[in-house]
Amino acid sequence: MPAPVVIVGAGQAAASFISRHVALGNSEALLLIGEEPHPPYQRPPLSKKYLLGELERDRLFIRPRKWYADQGVETRFDTRIAEIRRVDKQVVTDNSEAIAYDKLILCTGSHARGLPAEIGGTLPGVYTLRSISDIDRMAPEFQAGRKLLIVGGGYIGLEAAAVARQLGLEVTLLEMAERILQRVAAAETSRYFRELHAGHGVDLRESAQMTRLLEDDGKVCGAQLESGEIVAADLVLVGIGGSPNTELALAAGLDCDNGVQVNATCQTSDPDIFAAGDCCNFSRGGQQIRLESVQNAADQGDLIARVLAGEDVSYTALPWFWSDQYDCKLQIVGLNLGHDHIALRPGASESSLSVWYYRGDQLLAIDAMNEPRSYAFGRKIIEAGKNPAPEIVADPATDLKALALG
Ligand code: NAP
Repeated sequence: MPAPVVIVGAGQAAASFISRHVALGNSEALLLIGEEPHPPYQRPPLSKKYLLGELERDRLFIRPRKWYADQGVETRFDTRIAEIRRVDKQVVTDNSEAIAYDKLILCTGSHARGLPAEIGGTLPGVYTLRSISDIDRMAPEFQAGRKLLIVGGGYIGLEAAAVARQLGLEVTLLEMAERILQRVAAAETSRYFRELHAGHGVDLRESAQMTRLLEDDGKVCGAQLESGEIVAADLVLVGIGGSPNTELALAAGLDCDNGVQVNATCQTSDPDIFAAGDCCNFSRGGQQIRLESVQNAADQGDLIARVLAGEDVSYTALPWFWSDQYDCKLQIVGLNLGHDHIALRPGASESSLSVWYYRGDQLLAIDAMNEPRSYAFGRKIIEAGKNPAPEIVADPATDLKALALG
């Protein structure tokens, strides 16, 4: 029996690779190995509907467990790979079982950064949010009237704040930078979300440095800020970013730098090993980047299946993201890295706005808040390589559809 294609990591990238492989009718056998007990599942609903209790666990699964067997895909969940032996073309489980591969696809994802134990980061009642089990552990604590302290004003922190307010918790959110979403969005987008959360009663503090979490009776009870102020908390959610899971790749001697480095076909420095999703680092527009998004994981997984089928393809997908907070749907298309000015386009209602990012004359990206038209037509405009002037975009009288399709 020839060795199978082995996929390590059972997330979105793996599911997408397998779906495309099956759809293309590729005959090579597949073995999917995942550390969690579940088949690949969608992570975005974790910090939204799943935490709210509005979505059953089974609805998270990208494909039902049975689908993999029906397609002849072997699966081994609850299994951790401890080593890659490139010379022997084997992966080794933490029970020392060696498994041969023909090609290896690393879909190992990323993990949530935590706060150091020295400042209380491992106290009971302190959570990070990445997996089904994280939510299952923290959800019983999300009860009306309790005090939730969120550390970090990125998407995890903001989405969890929205859910917590909907469930009736008192929420304080600490962002150490000058503004929430500072690294990923323009000041106008930050302002929009600051006002949205303030309007829903979140005590949102920016430039707020926390020095340590405090303990009472073996459990977290609050945080001390640099100002000396103490913020009381019944539970703490830490949303301070993610780090790529590169330990296996590094130990195997693959090139890594903020992720496993891959070329335009998602191939690593070993031609028999590919990587997709949060764990990998690639070049785009002359910059090395790593994206933690569903679109990136799905598109890279899909691409690898095509590459293995012999298609002459390379990774050029346009990035997009979304976030749901209260009644606001944020849709983002493109990457705003290196932008030097923006245009603001008012929407049809008070709660709708889009922020258009430019570098020189080039339109790079759009944040659309309750503005599906700006997102949809803006996306077409970017895909077509059109660069409407900022004053045209900012003029509410401009017909975006005509700009996009004209
Ligand atoms: P993130 O987007 O990197 O945001 C973390 C935020 O916490 C940053 O603003 C960071 O500031 C701040 N921070 C870092 N250390 C801090 C500290 N000690 N005290 C207070 N603030 C601190 O990460 P995330 O929200 O944890 O999300 C993890 C990943 O999942 C991200 O890639 C995110 O985009 C993705 N995600 C996406 C969605 C979506 O698209 N809807 C939803 C959830 C998560 P600095 O920037 O200054 O470090």
